[in-house]
This record gives sequence, C-alpha cells and structure tokens, in this order.
Amino acid sequence: MTDKKRILTGDRPTGKLHLGHYVGSLANRIRLQHEYESIFIIADLHMLTTKNSKEEIAEIDKNVRDLVLDSIASGIEPQNVTFYLQSGIPEIHEIYTLLQNIVTVSRLERIPSLKDMARAANIEMPFGLLGYPVLQSADILHVKAHLVPVGKDNIAHIEITREIARRFNYLYGEVFPEPDGLVGDVPTLIGTDGQAKMSKSLNNAIMLSDDPKTVEKKVRGMFTDPNRVRADIPGTVEGNPVFIYHDAFNPNIAEVDDLKARYREGTVTDVEVKEKLTIAINTFLAPIHARREQYMETGLVDEIIVEGTEKVREITRATLFEMKKAMGLTGVWNRIKRKAEERAKKKEKA
Ligand code: ATP
Ligand code: MG
Repeated sequence: MTDKKRILTGDRPTGKLHLGHYVGSLANRIRLQHEYESIFIIADLHMLTTKNSKEEIAEIDKNVRDLVLDSIASGIEPQNVTFYLQSGIPEIHEIYTLLQNIVTVSRLERIPSLKDMARAANIEMPFGLLGYPVLQSADILHVKAHLVPVGKDNIAHIEITREIARRFNYLYGEVFPEPDGLVGDVPTLIGTDGQAKMSKSLNNAIMLSDDPKTVEKKVRGMFTDPNRVRADIPGTVEGNPVFIYHDAFNPNIAEVDDLKARYREGTVTDVEVKEKLTIAINTFLAPIHARREQYMETGLVDEIIVEGTEKVREITRATLFEMKKAMGLTGVWNRIKRKAEERAKKKEKA
C-alpha cells in the first residue's frame, strides 16, 4: 500500500460506456490515476436495483468485461489502478447491513436521483433502490476512500456517504474519513435527444465504442434549436445539445466560436454544424478504439478483475473487523460459541 490518498469510483455493468460517463467521471479518473491510489468498482449488485430479470443478469459477464475494456481504452492504465467486482466481495453486503441502521427512510426518500432512476427503468421503487446510496456508501467506505469522481446525479449519494461516515464515527469511534465528491467538467451531459441526461436506458447515448458511421447517424439525428426551422433564422446556442457537445469534444475552439457566431446570425446550416461535430467526436474516439482493439487481443481483462478483487477483499475484511470492533459486535459470537463449547465439554465428561 502507498501513502497516497485513495480514489474510489465506478460504474454499473449495464452496458458499454458512453460520452456522458467519460465527461462526468472517467476523464477525472484518467487525470488523477497517478496522483491517487485508484480503486474502481464494477457495481454488479447495484445493477440489480433497476435490472434484475434473468435475461438482464445473463448479460452481466459481457458488460463487466466491456466496462474494463472501455476504461482501459479511454486511458486508464491497468498496471496503476485496481478494478474489483462488487459481488466478489461478500463482506461489502455485511458492511451495507451494518450501515442500514444509521440512516433514516425519510432521508433516503428525499433523494431525487432514485426517483429518476425508477422512472427511467419504468419500475416502482424497490426497497433495494431506496437503499442504493447506502450500498454505495458501503462501496466507498470499505476502502476508506478520500475522493469519489462522479457525475452530478451521484453527488447526493456522496453527501449521504459523508453523513453516514460522520454518524458512524460519532456513535462508535473514528473509523472513516469523510469522502469528497468530484464532478467532471460537464456535470451532466445532455442526451442526443435533448433530454437532461445521456443514458443508455433512455436510448440517447453515443457509446465510446460506436464506429464512425454510427456516430454520424446519431449526430445527424440530434436535437437542436426546435425554433430554428430554416438555416437563415438566427438560432440559440445556449443549452443546444450540438453546441454542448462541440464545447466538450471539439478541441478546435476557433471553429466552434465561428459556428456559434454564424448560428446566432442564421448563416450556417444545422448540417454543417453536425458534420463538424461528427468529425470532432470521431477524432476523439479514434485512439480509444485503437487501444480497445489492442487490449482485447491481450485477453487480460479477467485476470485484472480477479487480481484486483482479491486484493481489495483484504482491505474490506480489515475494515469490517474494525467496524465490528468499534461497535462491540466482535465479542457476541465468540462469547456464545465459547459457552456452548464449554457446556459440550462438561457433558462429555459427565
Ligand atoms: P446509464 O443510465 O447510461 O446506464 P448510469 O447513470 O446508470 O448511466 P452509472 O453506471 O450508474 O451510469 O454511473 C457511472 C458514472 O457515470 C456515475 O458517476 C454517473 O454520475 C456518471 N454518468 C452517467 N451518465 C452521465 C451523464 N449523462 N453525464 C455525466 N455523468 C454521467
Ligand atoms: Mg449504467
């Protein structure tokens, strides 16, 4: 272990990563991977809160591998970071159980992101989804993380984590640091359809692994200024998805400024704005695709996950023990067991 501060963050294996994941969290992970000891969770148990049919569960293996591949393709260096599979560390659920009683139902019911998730998944709020931020707190606290790079929708969950850490420390003694959230340059990337959040489940996402033709097609279908019915009408740049994407993915600032100026004047077509955006996104994605291909050939993804999970499990076990000790829970089982053994011995003698 190092004396660097620790990052914990990750994703649910619900499919491939998209541009929203990149700007919301992945870019910060890549930037900070040398400065912090970085641990990335593959949160398969969290996926069950909105997707738990047998068909959806059957896709987890593939999604888990895609997640790791997409991360490495984007610039995460596997030799410098640790990936772990949440369900490979059952002690995390034990920690989750211990944390459940230091947060109230009404506090959890006030978190808007959970209702948004239920709505997007078209389900009524399951008990597990209400508990999502508590399980997420367990994910963060079991490695005693200091920093959690996430998209804006997740900041409310980090706030709960801080409250839980504080409350645990107050009730039982100092065990956890209070982690800070860190939001990306684009806190929530808008969807191609103009909906507030790019999300796979909303079908409005450009995936990091999309090929140039797919990107072209998705960009061509993008939502723009609905009032601008002709190219010679002045349009609105602010809040317009095509310009939000230009700002996020087109490094040619002069070109973007020129497009914006002409859009405001009504002297540029949507087609031109979108063609330039397609080029920018495809240029951004090209090295990611090349690295993905390269890495896929090594076939090392499974080893990376297994090694990382085994390493992190040691940390989890140590934290769980420390928690139980602080709570006075370690003694209960041992005392009962010792008594039972003593009695059994006496009976044998008699
Ligand atoms: P999807 O609905 O596409 O599966 P998600 O919200 O389920 O996305 P998670 O795996 O739960 O994705 O989250 C991974 C990280 O990516 C989180 O930190 C989340 O805040 C961030 N993120 C996801 N979508 C966006 C977005 N559109 N803009 C910014 N950050 C995002
Ligand atoms: Mg997801």
